[in-house]
Parts: sequence; C-alpha cells; structure tokens
Amino acid sequence: MSGKSAEKTIKEPARDIKVWREVDVVVVGGGPGGVASAISAARSGAKTVLIERYGHIGGMATGGLVNIIPNLSDISGKQHIYGLTMELLNRLDKRGGTSYTRKKDRGSTEKKAVDYYLDANLGWFYVRNDHNTGMQRVLYSAVVDPEILKDELNDMVLGAGAELLLHSWGTQVIMKNNAVRGVFFESKSGRQAILGKVIIDATGDGDIFVAAGAELDNECDNKRRTAWLALVWWLTNVNIRKYDNFKASQPEKYKELIQELIKLGGYPMFFKGILKNQPNTVWYHCMQPQPQHTDAMDVEQLTKIDVQARKRALITYDFMKKYVPGFERSFIMLTAPQLGTQGGRRIIGEYILTEKDMETDEVFEDTIAVLANNDYGEISAKHPTLCIPYRCLVPKCVDGLLVAGRAFSSADTINETFNIIPHCIAYGQAAGTAAAMAVKAGIQPRRVDYKALRANLVKQGVNIPEYSGKKKSESLTRSKPKDFYYQKYTSGGG
Ligand SMILES: Cc1cc2nc3c(=O)[nH]c(=O)nc-3n(C[C@H](O)[C@H](O)[C@H](O)COP(=O)(O)OP(=O)(O)OC[C@H]3O[C@@H](n4cnc5c(N)ncnc54)[C@H](O)[C@@H]3O)c2cc1C
Repeated sequence: MSGKSAEKTIKEPARDIKVWREVDVVVVGGGPGGVASAISAARSGAKTVLIERYGHIGGMATGGLVNIIPNLSDISGKQHIYGLTMELLNRLDKRGGTSYTRKKDRGSTEKKAVDYYLDANLGWFYVRNDHNTGMQRVLYSAVVDPEILKDELNDMVLGAGAELLLHSWGTQVIMKNNAVRGVFFESKSGRQAILGKVIIDATGDGDIFVAAGAELDNECDNKRRTAWLALVWWLTNVNIRKYDNFKASQPEKYKELIQELIKLGGYPMFFKGILKNQPNTVWYHCMQPQPQHTDAMDVEQLTKIDVQARKRALITYDFMKKYVPGFERSFIMLTAPQLGTQGGRRIIGEYILTEKDMETDEVFEDTIAVLANNDYGEISAKHPTLCIPYRCLVPKCVDGLLVAGRAFSSADTINETFNIIPHCIAYGQAAGTAAAMAVKAGIQPRRVDYKALRANLVKQGVNIPEYSGKKKSESLTRSKPKDFYYQKYTSGGG
C-alpha cells in the first residue's frame, strides 16, 4: 500500500481561533514584493503586520541565494529604477554588502568593461546587445550579499514601524461578503488569525488569492525560465585565476570535462561571484530546463526536485574538485535555504499585462513603475521602457486584496521578464502605498485615486512619467526571450 488516497477526504471540525492582531494592512510573504509592501504601508501611516513562513525575510533574494539585481537601467545605460530598490542598495553599499556597475561603465561599449562582466558569466545580467548600434553595452545592475540583506531588510521593516512575524504560514482567508478581511496563519503557537482592512498577497505563489477564490491564470510554458525550479548553491575557496588559466590554455580539455560533467548529471554553468566581500566564490544558479513539467504548487514535486538538486550539486562538487584545476581545495559554502520557485499562479487583475504592451509606449493613468525593457531585441531598442499600471495589482473580482510581486496580473509570456527583484520591489512599494491610502480613505483598493497614488510614489522617489495619454508606434519583429534563456542555460561552463 502506498498510503496515497486520491479521493478520500476528512472533515476538519470547526473551532474558535484566537485573533492575534487587528491592523490596517496585513502583508503575507516577506520576499521583495512583501518587504516593499510592508515598508511602504507602514511609512504611509498604516498599522501594518508582515508575516513570513521562514525565519528571515527577502524571499528568493536571500533564502533563494538569488542575489543579482539586474535591469536597473535600460539598454542605453539610463537608470529607471529608483525608489526603495535604490534606498536598499545605498544602505547595503554603506555596509559593503553590494557590488554594482561603476557609473562610468553604465551604457559603455568599451571592450574592457563588457569583457569583465562576460568573463564573470554575468552577461545576461550586466550586458546586452544594443540592436540600434549592433554593439554590446554594459547595463546598470548590482549583486548583493544575502546575509547583510536579511539584516538590512529587518531594520527597514521594523524601522518603518511595521510588525514582523516570522515562522508563520498564511493558510486561509477570512472573508466578509466579497472582501478579504484577514488571514489565518499557522505557527508553533498554533493556528491564529490577523484581521486587516487590506490584505496584500506577496506569497509569490498566490496562496492568499487562491484561498480567496480570486480568478487566476496558471498557464506556464515549460520552456520558460519561470517554469524552472532550482536549488541555488555556492562553492568557495576556488582559485579562480588557476581555473581561468586552465580554461584559456586548454579550451578543448575544458570542454571535454564539462561534457563529461553533463553526462554524469552535474551542473555545467556557474557565475563567478563578483561580490567585493566574497572572493574565490562561485554561484550555481542551476536554472536549467526540466525534462518534465514542474509544478511549484505540488509538494511531492517540490520534494523530488530538492532531493535531485542536492544529488546533482554533490556530483558537480565532487567532479570539479577532482578534475578541474582551481577547484582542488573548494568546498560547498552553502545551499539555498529555500528552493527556487518563480512561476505559477498569477492573479487576473483589472489589467492584464501582455507582450503587446511593450510596443505601445503607453503611459497609463495609473502607472506605478517604469521598467527597462531589455530582453526583446529590436523591440527593446525601439521601446526601451515599459510602464506598469496599478490595475495589475488589483484583483478583478475580490475586494480588500492587492497582489504584490511575481504573481502580478500578466501573461506568462511577459511575466518571466518583468517579475525580477527590482520589479517586485516596485510592485510592493505601490501596493503598500495604495493599501495605506485605501485604509485612510475608507475605500476599497480598486477605488484609490490614481493621480494621488502617482504623486505619493513620486514623493517617495519612484520614477513615474507625467500622464499624457496614449502613444502608439509600429509593430516590430520580436526576438523571443524564451529562446534566449533556453540557449543561455543549456550551454556549459563558468
Ligand atoms: C533560480 C532562480 C534564479 C533567479 N535569479 C534572479 C536574479 O538573479 N535576479 C532577479 O532579480 N530575479 C531572479 N529570479 C526571480 C526572482 O527571484 C523572483 O521573481 C522574485 O524574488 C519574486 O519576488 P516575490 O516577492 O514576488 O516572491 P519571492 O521572492 O518568492 O518571495 C515570496 C515570500 O513569501 C513567503 N511565503 C510564500 N508563501 C507563504 C505563505 N503561505 N505564508 C507566509 N509566507 C509565505 C516566501 O517564504 C518568500 O519569502 C530568480 C528566480 C529563481 C528561482
């Protein structure tokens, strides 16, 4: 007997649950979207609680060891991301917790600057082909130390006046009519409830909007980056100079070794970590297409992937140490405390962002963020930025709820390029600000005045253009980002 019972159910008895807090804004999930939501809601005057299932905040940016903050500038090197992301990077910089493209290199096509990032294998994050000139250009991107980041985020959330509750899983919602009014959460203290006037779902996976019965889209093409679950891990004490010399002097031998590693089931590609405070360390992001469909919402699959990924990490480590010069004295410094998940369920919001939006140059009346559009070849060259409307964070059919982070309302074709860390921080900053405004005005989040929201975000240092109606331009041939990722993560070598 396998113990599996697909059909069998059991009735859970009803019981009284202790209300732990009654607040204005409850944020569930402490990743980039959730942290930014909590900080912004609290700074905007709302009594705010942030709950997070793990013992730290930062989500994938800390626990997932996904520590690259890319696309701060467009293809020309012009910066577009400001607001909380920039505040955070400045704070980390003071603590030696970040490295980033030098100001003079942003937008540069100089070979030395381009080669530096290509050599670290950070090409996708730091360098793009500029289709206007046919040259490779350095973008503005950063890398961060996850441990310093965890501590800094705690300081920012608590410093903003929000209350933080770790080790707490948001499980179910408390509904009144069609509005979410609170959440049940589970922890070592048992099952408790928090009541709030606005709930922000920042779980990344949409746990809260699913519980609320909101309409959602879970289409996720297995070829897309967002469908690839991954366990990131780091190797340290690597003699990178020795490795570089070997690779340069014996390229054929190197290629042979990498092919052998692939055959054994190891991970062929790593980034040379470029954090100033962590020399001799390499990062295995392990984002590789999975042979079968992977579902981040299926606990059996999550378990399987964690077990397999650990096996593959050890195969890689043993191989590199034994055969690749420079790795003889290396050791595994850390595997990510949490499995990398990035795709899955997305809310159906009042507006659904699609690929078409990249070509319209539309400045929406409710624009809450301007993001660099760097990954679509000719389209990116012609349309270097994309505006995001607030309506992408507002569920179409459920009240009392906003969605911050990667589960924003979007087609999967565009979600994969506009769900990264600085983007999710921008969505969170807008959601937290809007939630506080809704509470203050005693209205539903969907009724928040767009003009006032934009003005409040601008006051917080967010880059938002003046609203001036629509602008359309001609259609262009699209270079598919999925092909780009596919190529990038199936090719080998560090
Ligand atoms: C392998 C990999 C590599 C990546 N590389 C990069 C990169 O280099 N740069 C980049 O910018 N982006 C990268 N991404 C994408 C990026 O990490 C995510 O899109 C981004 O972190 C999403 O932010 P988020 O806040 O929406 O969700 P998450 O970062 O997933 O955070 C969600 C948070 O909610 C918590 N949570 C979930 N459910 C519950 C619940 N029910 N109750 C309480 N808490 C809950 C989680 O523990 C987590 O802290 C990568 C992703 C992966 C998987």
